[in-house]
Amino acid sequence: MTCLCCGAAVTPLDAALTKKFVNRGSQTYYCIGCLAKKFAVSRALLIEKAREFQRAGCALFAGLQL
Ligand SMILES: [Zn+2]
Repeated sequence: MTCLCCGAAVTPLDAALTKKFVNRGSQTYYCIGCLAKKFAVSRALLIEKAREFQRAGCALFAGLQL
């Protein structure tokens, strides 16, 4: 699985972030770098958000190493 935008390998975290921020039902994904660019935020902020969603019990982020 590769990023729709840049072709980089997509990690489970990238897939979860794409589902959370772009389209819950998405079968194609963006890497975290392209998501950060798309939303004009830092990668660190996206990871921080992922940790927040995980703490809140969001199933998309369950079991990910963050
Ligand atoms: Zn990308």
